[in-house]
Amino acid sequence: MSLESLRAANNIERDNTWAEISFQERIDTAEFRIHERAHITVNGDSCRGCTTRECVVACPANLFVPTSDGGILFNYENCFECGTCYLVCNQAGAITWTYPEGGYGIVFHRT
Ligand code: SF4
Ligand code: SF4
Repeated sequence: MSLESLRAANNIERDNTWAEISFQERIDTAEFRIHERAHITVNGDSCRGCTTRECVVACPANLFVPTSDGGILFNYENCFECGTCYLVCNQAGAITWTYPEGGYGIVFHRT
């Protein structure tokens, strides 16, 4: 059920002091403040035997790329910091996950 339908079904009025914004508009406000140290690292050796590749399917930013030699290419720079890759990966030690250092990472701006 969409938020719009949920609102209508429950007769909930929107507080219009906050501008309505679509998902795409929200994403377009994103700024990535990139720290030189990667906040997520992927151990390519652990990935070699992985046939399920959950990270490739689940990362909403599409940051995991399977390579023809069985490896994984990963780039932390446009990460949404959602934690999905860490949750879905079944291989212990394949992903090392932290938030970026303070002042870095994704920033959503109000429009
Ligand atoms: S990060 Fe995890 S899910 Fe992704 S390829 Fe490596 S082992 Fe598989
Ligand atoms: S934290 Fe989210 S956006 Fe970042 S690499 Fe993992 S799944 Fe992708």
